[in-house]
Amino acid sequence: MATDYDAPRKNEEDLSEDSIEELKARRAEKSSPSVDEDEAEAAEGFELPGADLSNEELSVRVLPRQADEFTCSRCFLVHHRSQLAYEDGGQLVCSECAA
Ligand SMILES: [Zn+2]
Repeated sequence: MATDYDAPRKNEEDLSEDSIEELKARRAEKSSPSVDEDEAEAAEGFELPGADLSNEELSVRVLPRQADEFTCSRCFLVHHRSQLAYEDGGQLVCSECAA
């Protein structure tokens, strides 16, 4: 009887202590990873558009004119030579702008 009475008490104490420590541990675990997740998500959110923008800028601004390409003097886009409508005093105009 005495052992039967004692055993559940110890278990209860152990359980309550465990649950409290578990709660604390869970709270600590929850708070720190959630911050990391938010930061990771924010970083990803910022990274994706930034990368896209830099890619677009690269293709438009830095891309050097190839031998078979020209930069339209009106829309300032690089077009293939086949898109050249006419040349006006060194000003190249693409067929889209000439239309
Ligand atoms: Zn053009």
